[in-house]
Amino acid sequence: MLVNLIYNSKKRVDLYENKIYFVLLIFNFLCILTEIFCNICANYGYDSISNIIVRLFLILLLFYGASLTIYTIVIENSNERRILSSNLTRLIYIINSVLCIPILFLKLDFFKYQSSNFAAGPAVNYIVMVLIVYMIVSTIFIILKFKRIKKKAIPIIAYMLLMVVAVAINRVDPSIPSINCIEVFVVLLMYFTIENPDVKMIEQLNIAKDEAEKANRAKSDFLSSMSHEIRTPLNAIVGFSECISNAKTLEEASENAKDVISASQTLLEIVNGILDISKIESGKLELIESDYDSYKMLHEIVRLSEARLGDKPLDFQVNIAEDIPKVLYGDHFNLKKVIINILTNAIKYTDEGYIRFEVKCINQNDTSRLIISVKDSGRGIKKQDIDKLFNKFQRLDEDKNTTIEGTGLGLAITRQLVEMMGGRIIVDSIYGRGSNFTVIVDQKIGNQNLELETVEKAQILDLTGKKILIVDDNKLNLKVASKLLVDYKCSIETCESGFELLDLINNGNTYDIILLDDMMPKMSGTETLQKLKQINGFNIPVVALTANAINGMREQYLASGFNDYLSKPIDKDALYGVLKKYVATANNYSSFNVVNNASTDLTGKKVLIVDDNALNIKIASKLMKEYNFDIDQALSGSECVNKVKSGIKYDLIFMDHMMPEMDGISTFKELTALPDFNTPVIALTADAVVGSREKFLNAGFTDYVAKPIDRKLLDEAIKNIFKN
Ligand code: ADP
Repeated sequence: MLVNLIYNSKKRVDLYENKIYFVLLIFNFLCILTEIFCNICANYGYDSISNIIVRLFLILLLFYGASLTIYTIVIENSNERRILSSNLTRLIYIINSVLCIPILFLKLDFFKYQSSNFAAGPAVNYIVMVLIVYMIVSTIFIILKFKRIKKKAIPIIAYMLLMVVAVAINRVDPSIPSINCIEVFVVLLMYFTIENPDVKMIEQLNIAKDEAEKANRAKSDFLSSMSHEIRTPLNAIVGFSECISNAKTLEEASENAKDVISASQTLLEIVNGILDISKIESGKLELIESDYDSYKMLHEIVRLSEARLGDKPLDFQVNIAEDIPKVLYGDHFNLKKVIINILTNAIKYTDEGYIRFEVKCINQNDTSRLIISVKDSGRGIKKQDIDKLFNKFQRLDEDKNTTIEGTGLGLAITRQLVEMMGGRIIVDSIYGRGSNFTVIVDQKIGNQNLELETVEKAQILDLTGKKILIVDDNKLNLKVASKLLVDYKCSIETCESGFELLDLINNGNTYDIILLDDMMPKMSGTETLQKLKQINGFNIPVVALTANAINGMREQYLASGFNDYLSKPIDKDALYGVLKKYVATANNYSSFNVVNNASTDLTGKKVLIVDDNALNIKIASKLMKEYNFDIDQALSGSECVNKVKSGIKYDLIFMDHMMPEMDGISTFKELTALPDFNTPVIALTADAVVGSREKFLNAGFTDYVAKPIDRKLLDEAIKNIFKN
């Protein structure tokens, strides 16, 4: 009873097993109460009342047994399995209630022995039997869980052993109230060993403490490796910059400058990586989903990877399934990052052999499941290292890595991004033989008729009057190719087989170029070409069009007589290149191009750069030297506003965001509140998180360029503003 009081007066940990222990205590308490009451009644001769109370005692005893069984079942179950545990509890109590019914009817012999009373007979025998069954069930669970519960099993095992003793005593001399005594003893034993709320609290506190320490250690490790990672390129930057300042010749300086740029790029990569990781981990990274052109994205990836390959003697094989929907809906920015990450790794860690980039898809309803795999014949990863692969800053085989640049962040980010997109990444690798990284991710199928914004800009030729023939057995491919050609204003004809093509040519039709698919039934493109070549006077350029994008294919097609080769899905830039080479003549270049070139000379345009850091202004001014701007500067938002207020007319303003007192956006708001203010303002800021661009554009800025400034992006932004 005292334990009951203590247990209930203390603050406890909320575990399911504690709840059951509490129930156990209550039943134990009631058992004692009924036993006392029963004895009192018997002593005063109220035998019929005693009879009822003894039956009640027996029922309570069964509930005690059931509760202890439940306790052994739920002990050490995780909190996640709480629902299962509570369902089980309910079930066992229902069964137990049914098992109690015979107690009401079975014969109960009631004896007086000296001053005490005791019961015996069929009802008691029945109870003993059921309790034995409960004990067997408990034993099974204890054995099953022994490894996990260890010392917690001791009181329960003690209970079972003692119960055997108690039942034996009861059989020999029913007048000794052994069973209730044992019950009390077990409850006490449990209280002082495993169920003490203080002990439990301390256990929980220890777990929390361990976790906090782990997190703290992770933070320190992160900081120390970050400082190390940043120091390395920084060291190079400082060192090479010194070399530049001491350089005797321009060549020497320029050589060192290249190293500075390369180290800066690594540094930038690290900072971006850290930014990504911290955003992902703090849950701040949001996926920005939109319709995108899957062909274009994959092509850009292939092109980038080819450029990364440089002169490594690797066979870069590309196999992109043709049934990938052209317009997909998802976060293509991050998906691209994921694919580029694993492709770049394959290139970095493979010295010879091949890299195979494969994209397949399973289209179902409105979803396309992309299966992207990158297989390489590189150095591979040791089995025991595979788990470490996705750790931050963890680079494997460090001794071999010394010449390969990397941060150890790539795969950590990659995995987290893939998981955010609801996908999976699977690694399969044999050390010394090669690795295979597979990413499986679902993307919604977008509206296939959607006109996606294209970035051809300067890449449009005016091919009015030119005639182009596309030959492909697949109608959809014909449609796609025709669409790509629409902008060129040429006349487009299509046909669906080599036979039709031969007929057209034989009938005297002539074209400026023929785009000929290779894989066609009955007569392939290559066979058709052989036949075309036999036609007298045939001299139309023929370009092979095929999904066979494996390295070396180009040479093969050129060898079989094609003038050029375009892989499917057709890349706009590549198509432009082919048209420019074979179809365009000097007067086909659109006026757009001319305007664009002329606009680079922006002599006399007045530009204001607003930044609280003078060095940043200096760098930006240097990068804009070629435009011959008349550059003015403001070191704060208020200085900028004052300059504009004073009546100076600028043609363009570059605005930093993070400035003390008044930030870029507030400054911008003040500027736009001025009467007649209509100068374009470009945000020029190191606030380079995903979504920043949108933030500034939504605030009304004309454009956004991230710091450190990418020359190409800056040029694009400037040209966009002055194109008219
Ligand atoms: P990083 O490449 O910047 O070092 P990653 O997180 O991208 O960092 O990769 C972690 C490590 O995994 C690499 O240092 C490398 O040892 C190993 N690794 C990744 N991809 C491959 C691969 N394709 N083949 C062999 N090792 C790889």
